[in-house]
Amino acid sequence: MSRCVAVVGAGLAGVTTAYELALAGFEVHVFERGGSVAEQASFAGSALLLPFVPGLAESASSAPLSWRWRRWRANRRTSDAPATLAALSQLGLARTAELRHTLGLDDETTEGLLVALVDAKRVAAIEAQLEGWTALGLRPELLDADAARQREPGLNADAQLAGALALAHGGAGNARLFAQQLRQQAQRLGARFRFHTTVRAITPDGAGLTLRHEHTPPADAPTRAADREAGDTQPHPAGPQDERFNAVVLCNGLDAPALLGRRLPLAAMHEASVTAPIRLLEAHPELGPKAGWVDPARGIAIARTGQRVRVTGGLAITGAQDKVAPDFEALHRDLQHWFPGSVLHQQVQQGQSRRALAADGLPLLGASGSAGIWLNLSPGSQGWGLACGAAQVLATQMAGQTPALDLSALGPQRLT
Ligand SMILES: Cc1cc2nc3c(=O)[nH]c(=O)nc-3n(C[C@H](O)[C@H](O)[C@H](O)COP(=O)(O)OP(=O)(O)OC[C@H]3O[C@@H](n4cnc5c(N)ncnc54)[C@H](O)[C@@H]3O)c2cc1C
Repeated sequence: MSRCVAVVGAGLAGVTTAYELALAGFEVHVFERGGSVAEQASFAGSALLLPFVPGLAESASSAPLSWRWRRWRANRRTSDAPATLAALSQLGLARTAELRHTLGLDDETTEGLLVALVDAKRVAAIEAQLEGWTALGLRPELLDADAARQREPGLNADAQLAGALALAHGGAGNARLFAQQLRQQAQRLGARFRFHTTVRAITPDGAGLTLRHEHTPPADAPTRAADREAGDTQPHPAGPQDERFNAVVLCNGLDAPALLGRRLPLAAMHEASVTAPIRLLEAHPELGPKAGWVDPARGIAIARTGQRVRVTGGLAITGAQDKVAPDFEALHRDLQHWFPGSVLHQQVQQGQSRRALAADGLPLLGASGSAGIWLNLSPGSQGWGLACGAAQVLATQMAGQTPALDLSALGPQRLT
């Protein structure tokens, strides 16, 4: 069994992978370019713990023609990948619940996730898929509009609604808080984290791999250790450093192909978010969402985490390095449409983030095809829901044991 493993990236994928590898007995070193865990896509997420439901995928408002062609080709192939992902999603949600319970993680969880069905046409489309989803063990529940409004009493009474789909085991929470707490647990198991450290290259080296990394603090990084939120667990020598590992797991999203030295057909999916404090009025305790609310027609998700509401949307797909101008006003309007008057307009945070996306919208998990390099990449819009399951299965595989699920349908070879 490979004993000494480097994990590149400390987002949700990296932190969960580090925890599961440390639990399986590996010596784990995590390298993160940023100053703390979950600072990139894992910070900007919609805060939803989403089960994967085939056919309910998000659709981007814009995508280049070449990408749409690639996606069409990828989705034409019949494969086991959607069924594998549905099973992985169930495993991931169960593992997340187990870790929350056994480790006492508190990430401002709220249970419940509804998908808005704004007209009869959408209800009919969902009805046609219910049997197939039940066969996959997903058990979504179709609610009429009254039942949906009972679960989310803050919904705008004037907004058109024909029904909602309730997703079992779904909910909302603070993914960053989850990652921060799990990082502490990984450290207790011996995992070491190195922040402001960029991995530059990975080269085969006999039976192992040499990882070249470099301390890359931002110009305004605090110099006193006490000021660093990250609390690095290793000193930082200057200049590029070479270190040997038995295996490397790439959990660094869009930056993975550069380290793998191989093209992976990944695009960037951009999304904008607005987070605002909920308006607390004794006379109107129903204001705002109770948990998670997804509106595929508007391409948005609304989530309650603690005393805040986050709305995300404006999905756009571009080349890996391109930029998109976010439309925050549209998100404010969408929030007002579904939950009018529910937030305060002070301390509003606006953000924009991007995550890796494979042509078929599915993750890239498992052996990379290059000896000793493993992938935990591009979990799409279910990144958090999948993270704990993907990490557990990967760690079992890397330990040379038979995992609960065969991930070969989600490997990178399917895209070649
Ligand atoms: C706006 C938005 C909304 C979303 N909503 C949801 C949601 O509601 N539910 C859900 O489950 N998922 C959601 N997602 C997806 C989810 O957030 C991501 O799938 C998940 O966070 C990806 O985690 P990650 O660890 O792969 O990536 P990241 O969190 O981006 O982590 C990758 C890390 O790798 C580091 N890195 C990169 N290159 C290097 C290098 N060479 N050396 C060292 N470090 C490196 C980066 O600094 C980064 O911290 C959303 C994403 C976005 C952007």
